[in-house]
Amino acid sequence: MRSLLGRGARVLASEAMHLVRRVLPERPGTARVIYYHRIDDEQHRSCVTPRAFAEQMAHLRADGFHVMGLAAMREHLDAHRPFPDRTVVITFDDGFADNYTAAFPVLAKHALPATIFLAAGFIDGDELPVLRDRSGIRPMTWQQVCEMSRHGVAFGAHTLTHRSLTELPPDELEREIVGSRDMVAARVGAPAETFCYPRGHFDERVKQAVRAAGFKIACTTLPGCVTPDTHPFSLRRTFVARDDTVHDFARKLDGSFDLLHAARQRLGGAPAPSYG
Ligand SMILES: [Zn+2]
Repeated sequence: MRSLLGRGARVLASEAMHLVRRVLPERPGTARVIYYHRIDDEQHRSCVTPRAFAEQMAHLRADGFHVMGLAAMREHLDAHRPFPDRTVVITFDDGFADNYTAAFPVLAKHALPATIFLAAGFIDGDELPVLRDRSGIRPMTWQQVCEMSRHGVAFGAHTLTHRSLTELPPDELEREIVGSRDMVAARVGAPAETFCYPRGHFDERVKQAVRAAGFKIACTTLPGCVTPDTHPFSLRRTFVARDDTVHDFARKLDGSFDLLHAARQRLGGAPAPSYG
């Protein structure tokens, strides 16, 4: 769909939806969880450039968004309490080294909370082999994880080896979930309470296993916003793409891209948002 729908068509579709949003604003009290993978200049769909990322974070601060962490989000969900206007949660999947070198300084500069989901078995290794069409990308080190943790970045689990959980037998499912929980907790020195399904693959059985392991919240790659009544183990998220301008970013935050993302995912032609 991304190839069928050129950038012009996508922008046009989102602009049309934005006009609809002006008449029918997104339901009040909802929140939006955005997600990134790599922050790097490489021309690859897993990347947002450091410059674009810095502009997006500055936009969140300058435009008065309420940026909260996932722990606070869970409190709202437990109480079914509406989120403050324009609430955004920032997340990163996998644990790439560039999250430390390129994203962390920007997050720290703006004092923005964020959560990084670690494919824990690969951290501190030579490669983070989670992308289908790109190899040789380095993960962060545990030392970097600890430094970021001391400065307010939260860490969640994203399994040990990034396998699709819906395909695993019970013993391997538990090993991936509990193993990553224990590894992240041991390294960070605090319980790992947030989880993210690799490639966005989950079902009832996977959700139950994540809940049984003591996690409090879990992120999917389904597009859309989080309402006060959203199930805490089925959080929808909004993918930030490599070619998003700040204008596109603002449109994504107001929900103008949701229909497009949903249609693209339904057609199965969107490798990027299904990365997870
Ligand atoms: Zn992932």
